Amino acid sequence: MHMGSRITAETSACSAEIFTKKVAGSSKDWKAGEPVPYAALAEVFERIDSTTKRLEIAEYLTTFLTNVITRTPGDLVKVIYLCINRIAPDYEGLELGIGEGMLKKAIAQATGVNVNHINAEYKKAGDLGLVAMNSRATQATLFKPKALTVNHVFNKLREIAKTTGASSQTKKVGSINGLLAACQGQEAKFIIRSCEGKLRIGLAEQTVLGSLAHATVYARHAQESKKVSSDRIAKELEEASKTLKTVFSECPNYDLVIPPLLEGGTELLREKIRITPGIPLKPMLAKPTKAISEVLDRFEGKKFTCEYKYDGERAQVHFADGKLSVFSRNSEDMSVKYPDLIEHMQKCIKPNTQSFVLDAEAVAWDKDEHKILPFQELSKRKRKDVKAEDIKVKVHIFAFDLLYLNGESLLKKDLEHRRELLREHFTPVEGQFAFAKSRDIYAVEEIQAFLDESIQDSCEGLMVKMMEGDDATYEPSRRSLNWLKLKKDYLAGVGDSFDLVVIGGYHGRGKRTSVYGAFLLACYDPESESYQAITKIGTGFSEEMLESHYKFLHPLEIPNKKPYYDLGDAKPDVFFEPKVVWEVLAADLSLSPVYSAAKGLIETRGVSLRFPRFIRIRDDKDPDDASNSEFVAEAYQRQVVASGGGGKGKKKGGGEDGGDGFW
Ligand code: AMP
Repeated sequence: MHMGSRITAETSACSAEIFTKKVAGSSKDWKAGEPVPYAALAEVFERIDSTTKRLEIAEYLTTFLTNVITRTPGDLVKVIYLCINRIAPDYEGLELGIGEGMLKKAIAQATGVNVNHINAEYKKAGDLGLVAMNSRATQATLFKPKALTVNHVFNKLREIAKTTGASSQTKKVGSINGLLAACQGQEAKFIIRSCEGKLRIGLAEQTVLGSLAHATVYARHAQESKKVSSDRIAKELEEASKTLKTVFSECPNYDLVIPPLLEGGTELLREKIRITPGIPLKPMLAKPTKAISEVLDRFEGKKFTCEYKYDGERAQVHFADGKLSVFSRNSEDMSVKYPDLIEHMQKCIKPNTQSFVLDAEAVAWDKDEHKILPFQELSKRKRKDVKAEDIKVKVHIFAFDLLYLNGESLLKKDLEHRRELLREHFTPVEGQFAFAKSRDIYAVEEIQAFLDESIQDSCEGLMVKMMEGDDATYEPSRRSLNWLKLKKDYLAGVGDSFDLVVIGGYHGRGKRTSVYGAFLLACYDPESESYQAITKIGTGFSEEMLESHYKFLHPLEIPNKKPYYDLGDAKPDVFFEPKVVWEVLAADLSLSPVYSAAKGLIETRGVSLRFPRFIRIRDDKDPDDASNSEFVAEAYQRQVVASGGGGKGKKKGGGEDGGDGFW
């Protein structure tokens, strides 16, 4: 958020040069009309990797993208996909994520080095990309292979991801081998990392979007070659960045967004790209609050509403041309997991409703007792091959928002209006579909009473939302102050829960030698694309739970820590692939000499969770959707304020650093 303006100030100051500047010192240039060489992109990746300064990262990328737009605009979509390390829109579910074993095989074949040697090198370097690059360097080349282009690399990666069936392994190894054989310099490092599904150069998607927006502005001015004041450029850059980010959160698909952007800049983009049924939007999220008084600080004197906060899974339901589909919070297509949800929805659509996008919570439902079941019941359900007749735990939809109706976006309408349309266009069906229970409230006591009611009805608490005016619009992808969540746990003095990635394990002792006795958890830092250790959790597990965690985690054990695990001083016995996300509650947070979570955001030390308690497995969340370091820092700051500390970085709670409460 502050990023945008900082980039703007900085880049506008050097705008005149950037129009015409080549990538400074680049040896990997290309001419207008020629395909973008992969070496040029690899060089930009290398530069980005060599700095942690966000402004520098953004500037390298902006300059490069400006060159792509002015010289080879047809390659822009593929360049962007390679930068964010994807090969298709998120919601298409097409992923690379090729396993280590297969990559080692391909490296061995391409370089003539045997797999044992590769294993040994991998142990030392901890990065298969580096191993591939260094193995190449030792191999004599008989003839110079044809230089790789962005177009070729991207097409190959997509082909690899799409390869399925009997001999798919051999085919994939063959294709990777082919790419590696043509690599020069540092290219192999990034090809391998792309295959792994993680670039790890500290390039966040928001930065890519910002640079892309800026590059379109620069490219246009370069082509017009008219003199423009730096104030005007600064304004244009800021607006372009804002518009592109907004449009992208409504339609997260570069194949659709980039063509109008190239044709007519962000103005045409805003005009042409609208929310579209079938393409999931990034959902709006809520800020946590610790007390009812905090709700009043924000909403007093305004028209607001309280809704039950149902404890299930977010479901964004889309409907157009007679086809229904449902997407998860991470934009995954869940239509196959929920055939019953699709069936239920059909009955609730009124005849005047031709197309819509609806926001809702899908909850496990006990149809005999007519009540909500715990969230876990739903997560037991298979993700694929689900037949409606085999389903035991029924799903109930509680709809709370309407984002699109009959060809029109409702995002800019206020909640009062959206809710009215929602109620007008759908019919509740007993035990299957209802509107989220809500109450428009004025006094504190009423909030408390409604909160108690929600808990009795098996909900997590309340969502408090602005109803009227500009603050009541739907803000895709934003954790907004216009939606506050109030959970019963907060009122018990316990903070918000954290969704954390299990990155390490500690062998059990005594009776527990055959399982892990404790686990190392991490939050995610999107800037550095690393997992930062935050706490060790080892109490509160039953023997049964430990056994089941062991069964699940043991196959995910890896010999070394990943290069992108920032452990601080934590020393687990084993490491895991970053796959499993757990929701955890903590008694409080404290600054820590041991853990690295959110380091640098409050002070140089990281933050740790004290007395963590396991709540549940979050299999609806990917590891990169775990609580991020900013969230951890915010939770720490809130706690400092709540305890009356006020000062930045002031430590709350008993126990000296490294003492009581640290694991
Ligand atoms: P959290 O996951 O704790 O950040 O809480 C936000 C989530 O609560 C949303 O992503 C929804 O899945 C869920 N939720 C349940 N009921 C509601 C509601 N009435 N309004 C908005 N979100 C809700």
